[in-house]
Amino acid sequence: QVKAIGREAVAAKRKQYFYPCTQHFYRNAPQIVRGSMQFVYDENDKAYTDFFAGVSVVACGHCNPIITARTIEQLQQLQHTTTVYLTQPSVDLAERLEEILPGNLRRSFFVNSGSEANEGALLLARMHTGRKGFIALESGLHGRTNLTMSVTGLPMWRTDAFLDEDVYFISRPYHPELTMEEAATRSLKDLEQVLREKGDTIAAMIAEPIQGNGGMIMPVSWYFREVKALLDQYGVLLIADEIQTGFGRTGVMFAMEHFDVVPDIVSMAKALGNGVPVAAFATTDEIALSLNRPSASTFGGNPVSAATALAVLDFIRAEQLPQRAERLGGKLKEGLKSLQEQYPEWISDVRGTGLMLGAELVGADAAGKAAITDDVLELMKDRGYLIGKNGVDRNVLAFQPPLIITEDDIDGMLAALNEVLLEAFSN
Ligand code: PMP
Repeated sequence: QVKAIGREAVAAKRKQYFYPCTQHFYRNAPQIVRGSMQFVYDENDKAYTDFFAGVSVVACGHCNPIITARTIEQLQQLQHTTTVYLTQPSVDLAERLEEILPGNLRRSFFVNSGSEANEGALLLARMHTGRKGFIALESGLHGRTNLTMSVTGLPMWRTDAFLDEDVYFISRPYHPELTMEEAATRSLKDLEQVLREKGDTIAAMIAEPIQGNGGMIMPVSWYFREVKALLDQYGVLLIADEIQTGFGRTGVMFAMEHFDVVPDIVSMAKALGNGVPVAAFATTDEIALSLNRPSASTFGGNPVSAATALAVLDFIRAEQLPQRAERLGGKLKEGLKSLQEQYPEWISDVRGTGLMLGAELVGADAAGKAAITDDVLELMKDRGYLIGKNGVDRNVLAFQPPLIITEDDIDGMLAALNEVLLEAFSN
């Protein structure tokens, strides 16, 4: 049994032993000691309704007993063996992913994190095309390995030194001073130009269907269809990073469905394990052939992660979580919109879909916007609600709760947010 040392000591230890760069999110972060469905609890047993879900991870709820029972059962039966031997959970999981993935995406390669899934997807695209370059969107986020950081467009999440240089960033299909149509058109023009000049050196374009950390950016419905058509002309693959958007969060199983596009490769992580590390990149029979060296991941597809992911997919299906995300997301978005109508001088935009929503806050300058957003996060925390923040200026309140959230939770959070906005902006 570990002796509890208390919040202050945990904060001090973290400051002493973690890398300094890991201190960046909350001014006074709560210490979370346990979780149950949409709630987490601090060391004083204060409950918080979790509207962030560890950045879209815990879609089925914290410590969901139906899922953890299956994790525990697998932990007690077989935790790990190498892929040299056969195990059933991983092949069952691959089969289930094939059933829910679009088009003829049939093959899954299992790894342990989103970064690793994107890294694998990028490597696969290089192997398949024999080309090295990539196209990526401004303000996208794809991971923290060298290659995935190289295609990450958000300055905050990139180191500047020694990144891969064959990456061409194009404008994202959103700009505060343009309509969504104009911004999409501008982005497509950028894409066309890069393809014209460099097309025969480019392996793939990687994109989040809806940018998460970039600030909940959902392009117009025709955007990715046009993107795919252009890429096809130049033999460039499309990698959909569904790491934040996948598994029902946006009201459909995978967010590319909103755009009626089947990518060549899909990367998945986060919600697939509901808190247990499991990730994958999936592709077609043909493209999968191009990863032509013996390849395996020590922990990728391990029985515990695979059994957990199977339980997650069962739960998503049984509870119809994509439909639930659409319905409850509609309600939450409406509530946020009416706050925006009430306080147009404080909230400049409400956007996103399903239970992946953002509310952008106004401030005098970038620092002011970030500061007021931090104020709102702290005050919401004090009232028992955890929300997130993202966006280029860190001024977009992020709402990505577990998909099992209830209407009452949403009403309670909106009422608290109303009070908090009044308090934060009147200071
Ligand atoms: N892609 C997206 C869209 C993400 O949001 C993240 C994590 N925030 C990643 C990739 C990286 O995933 P991981 O942290 O599991 O490596």
